[in-house]
Amino acid sequence: MFIENFKVESPNVKYTESEIHSVYDYQTTELVHEEKNGTFQWTVKPKTVKYEFKTDVHVPKLGVMLVGWGGNNGSALTGGVIANREGISWATKDKVQQANYFGSLTQASTIRVGSFNGEEIYAPFKSILPMVNPDDVVFGGWDISNMNLADAMARAKVFDIDLQMQLRPYMESMVPLPGIYDPDFIAANQGSRANNVIKGTKKEQIDQIIKDIREFKENNKVDRVVVLWTANTERYSSVAVGFNDTMENLFASVDRNEAEISPSTLYAIACILENVPFINGSPQNTFVPGLIDLAIKRNTLIGGDDFKSGQTKMKSVLVDFLVGAGIKPTSIVSYNHLGNNDGMNLSAPQTFRSKEISKSNVVDDMVSSNAILYEPGEHPDHVVVIKYVPYVGDSKRAMDEYTSEIFMGGRNTIVLHNTCEDSLLAAPIILDLVLLAELSTRIQLKAEGEGKFHSFHPVATILSYLTKAPLVPPGTPVVNALSKQRAMLENILRACVGLAPENNMILEYK
Ligand code: NAD
Repeated sequence: MFIENFKVESPNVKYTESEIHSVYDYQTTELVHEEKNGTFQWTVKPKTVKYEFKTDVHVPKLGVMLVGWGGNNGSALTGGVIANREGISWATKDKVQQANYFGSLTQASTIRVGSFNGEEIYAPFKSILPMVNPDDVVFGGWDISNMNLADAMARAKVFDIDLQMQLRPYMESMVPLPGIYDPDFIAANQGSRANNVIKGTKKEQIDQIIKDIREFKENNKVDRVVVLWTANTERYSSVAVGFNDTMENLFASVDRNEAEISPSTLYAIACILENVPFINGSPQNTFVPGLIDLAIKRNTLIGGDDFKSGQTKMKSVLVDFLVGAGIKPTSIVSYNHLGNNDGMNLSAPQTFRSKEISKSNVVDDMVSSNAILYEPGEHPDHVVVIKYVPYVGDSKRAMDEYTSEIFMGGRNTIVLHNTCEDSLLAAPIILDLVLLAELSTRIQLKAEGEGKFHSFHPVATILSYLTKAPLVPPGTPVVNALSKQRAMLENILRACVGLAPENNMILEYK
């Protein structure tokens, strides 16, 4: 059964006009070990830590500024939100299709809230805490191509033509602001697109982005802005001591107009200086150590890297299942055929390398969780190939072969072929990222013994479910397994309204 919304009644939860306050028992463990005759004896001690959560219930009017607004993802998201808001339907060769948010965790998934008369009761994910309604989001942003969003949507060839014709009047007047362009960081084949660029030194470019954000806020009367990078994948930038390892060194390098500071890092600096959350949807190392240092010092949310949309999402489910079942994946080979502008940009070796890195570490935590299967340091062969095939356009082919060792030396090979419009996978993920980033800035917490409430760590691990290579604060474990990432997000939001984590025990019926 499905319920639209719910309220929690508990002595531990208080709803007021301005906030939801919850007192929460966090059940965790403490491990101790002692050495006896050369071997370690481990003891696990359950422990309960009291937390308090405070969520501001005032939902702001939200502006979302996309870097790469005129790209396939940017135009698909903007058009998709307008189509939902306006209740647009369109004729396909199969049926009349209604706009929807399929693929969005916040808008199209549910959580189990309990049982009633022997039936499981589910509510929308978005009903756990007050969240921005996508209908109310104002979109804007930058692109190095000056094409308006209606023409950009046509260039992308993602939406059916009947839908495009209905969206055109809404999108014609949307024109991206000039972007920061540095041909050294993206493929040379993108040069012909770059007719809308900010001139000047790196410092002047940062100042222009700050000015753009302020004007966007003012002109659209929005309370909060979130910025998200969905522009071309850049090559990695060098990381060096004295250059970009600390906030001070990064600022000094900007002042010297150093060539090796990437456009994405410049946008991120501008956002952090404006206390505007910045999310990186591409694989490059935008968040160099000096930038992370800046975000921590300014307590501004940063999240990334690289949307987890298709092949990697499957990988973080399948390898988790195999290793969790006691089966040993030994070879994972992934091919991608991709014909959109992203694929063309990735056909250059330097930008491909960024993608290869972000796709390559996604099974590490699952492999290292099972020393029964893997010797220390042992790892499955893991190869990623991306080929630009113009004819397939945005309809990406992902082909994967997983070979595993099973019982008594047996071999198991699973082959997957996944065909899907890439941008229709990414757009709802972008929506989730910006809505959850905004929400998480309204949550404050404190553990027992901590004097004051504080926000989450500015490096937003809470967004990991949506990213391929989750950015985590130094010294924090990276979790890639999809079900764990989803559980983390859902359970933290549940804690904010005093609900226990979903434990799937269903003892009521045992
Ligand atoms: P796209 O090439 O269609 O769009 C990128 C846009 O960014 C283009 O319009 C380009 O003109 C613009 N651009 C490039 N550099 C810019 C800059 N410095 N400033 C402002 N604008 C700039 O690509 P897409 O398919 O929309 O994908 C966008 C990004 O998302 C890519 O990096 C891709 O790797 C990443 N990504 C996509 C998916 C997916 O499923 N679609 C998944 C993971 C990551």
